[in-house]
Amino acid sequence: MEQDEIQFPVSFNSCPNCGSTRRLVGDLLAKEAEKGRVPPGTKGCVLQQQTLIGDPATAMFGIPVVRTFFDVCADCGTVYCIEAHLGKAVQSATPNIPGGGHGLLGG
Ligand SMILES: [Zn+2]
Repeated sequence: MEQDEIQFPVSFNSCPNCGSTRRLVGDLLAKEAEKGRVPPGTKGCVLQQQTLIGDPATAMFGIPVVRTFFDVCADCGTVYCIEAHLGKAVQSATPNIPGGGHGLLGG
């Protein structure tokens, strides 16, 4: 039996280990937003990764990519995926380089 297709964006609002909704970077950025130091609604992550869903040798542009964003549970330390987006590689993508992002999700 075929599974339903994954609907993007995917988001996870609580720690899969302990159920906490407190996140290290996400909560710190929320406090900074309250102080007006970052734009309201700015979300954050400790790691983002872009994974090509296709063969870069045959097509460098327009290849589907999955961008996954991770944060750390403030209560138990578990690193978990908070969001995943499906997109297209618009420049020559640099796949699978952890920590390559600036740590901020688009507002
Ligand atoms: Zn946790």
